[in-house]
Amino acid sequence: EGTREGGTKFLGVAAVGMSTPEELAAITKARVLMVGAGGIGCELLKTLVMTGFEDIQLIDLDTIETSNLNRQFLFRRHHVGMSKATVAREAALAMRPNAKIVAHHGNVKEERFGASFVRGFDVVLNGLDNMEARRHVNRLCLAAEVPLVESGTNGFLGQVTTHKRGESECFECQPKPAPKTYPVCTIRNTPDKPVHCVVWAKEMLFARLFGAANQQSELDEEEGAQGDADGNAAPEGQAQDASFFLRAESESALDYSRRIFARVYSADVRRLVAMEDLWKKAGRKAPTPMDEAAAAGEPPALGKNNAHSVLSTDESVGVFIASCMALADMRAEVGELAFDKEQDVMVDFVASAANLRMACFGIEQQSKFDIKGIAGNIVHAVATTNAVVSGLLTLEAIKIICGHHNKLKWTYVREFPSKAAGRTTIIMPTLPPPQRPGCFVCGGGQLQLTIDTTRTTLRTLLEAVVRKRMGFNDPSVQTNASVFYEPYDGLEDDEIAAYERNLATTLSKLPGGGVGDGEVLSVI
Ligand SMILES: [Zn+2]
Repeated sequence: EGTREGGTKFLGVAAVGMSTPEELAAITKARVLMVGAGGIGCELLKTLVMTGFEDIQLIDLDTIETSNLNRQFLFRRHHVGMSKATVAREAALAMRPNAKIVAHHGNVKEERFGASFVRGFDVVLNGLDNMEARRHVNRLCLAAEVPLVESGTNGFLGQVTTHKRGESECFECQPKPAPKTYPVCTIRNTPDKPVHCVVWAKEMLFARLFGAANQQSELDEEEGAQGDADGNAAPEGQAQDASFFLRAESESALDYSRRIFARVYSADVRRLVAMEDLWKKAGRKAPTPMDEAAAAGEPPALGKNNAHSVLSTDESVGVFIASCMALADMRAEVGELAFDKEQDVMVDFVASAANLRMACFGIEQQSKFDIKGIAGNIVHAVATTNAVVSGLLTLEAIKIICGHHNKLKWTYVREFPSKAAGRTTIIMPTLPPPQRPGCFVCGGGQLQLTIDTTRTTLRTLLEAVVRKRMGFNDPSVQTNASVFYEPYDGLEDDEIAAYERNLATTLSKLPGGGVGDGEVLSVI
């Protein structure tokens, strides 16, 4: 236990018997790069400074949103709209004023954070939520030969893994399952999959109509103030008017349900259609608003339809009105409701609401049974998991800094206790697996590509395969004999023109005899 000048009293790791004085000195001097100052990052920064780390740089692109405040405890309401990295730094300095913390409000993929920047650190700690950035940091660390400690959480599940070039699997040695989170702007403005509409129906509409009166979710916060990912402004007049969604005291459940129907499937969709910029992007089709008169009929009795069949749009309108009425009355009687997939009327509401949105956006509608499955699988962030994972990240960082490389672990946090090595535990440490020979990221391995070289252009190969699937940022593509494409930075106009011609050419017609079966392409 010790007191630092001007700082709060803190327990150093040496004091709790985990490290020698030499090791504590190494921890104090260690140069740490943290990527991400969100759910994991806030916990991690706090744990690092309270453990004795004093030289930390952190990178985060995001600004603070109201919906972050329930689990990102370094942020307060008056910080909303400010840089996460900057505010997290200030909060950590309040705990340890003598620490040297540098905050970068930016994207880790920017050039200024390249391999030579990363080389200036002893360890990199990832607290990121998207696969693209995690893959990028993996490659930066491999290039800079700096150890990486990776982390992820998903509800009650979490994991922390260590990656040292040549000694253990890199983050990409094993293929990763597709991510399960969806961009908020897609949910709000441009859904193109059933799950987008189910998330909207359950997390936004249900929560707004029947949840706590002041409930805010990531989905409805600051509408109107934010644009979508392409920089388009949000629809005018969609500014938050939560009171619209409240049922007036004298209002009948039927009038209320029809009013909501008219708003979300007619007026709101018309506003989206009017945002022409949203629909310019190739492959996007503007949605079709519904006629508010569609809800004028008498609502049917619930529970008559087969859960495995897909209802017609008219049938879904009926179920929407009937279930909305039932839930509005339930809300009036018992207070705020939380979605429960075992309550049939709630599933009826979410299924019909999602299906009507799918109808507007030209997405194939689903059975109630399938929607129940999707709605039941949406996972919420758990602050406790983030805290546990941050502690584990810090432990692995200490081992790396203190040279205990043989003690590094990959650790999994489970939802339920299970027996392992005679103990019942929810935290499962395992040995880091060795590097996978032939990994195309860390092992110089080859991938086999089956593709029609007479029809595929170099541009398609570059965008769809090399950039999108293999995750290369600024690749060059070449054979032993010729370079087909390289990044344009610093090139002459005639070189750029030649590469542009190559991009438009099918692989079989590329200069030097083209690329055909059995050819080996190098991507650097
Ligand atoms: Zn690898």
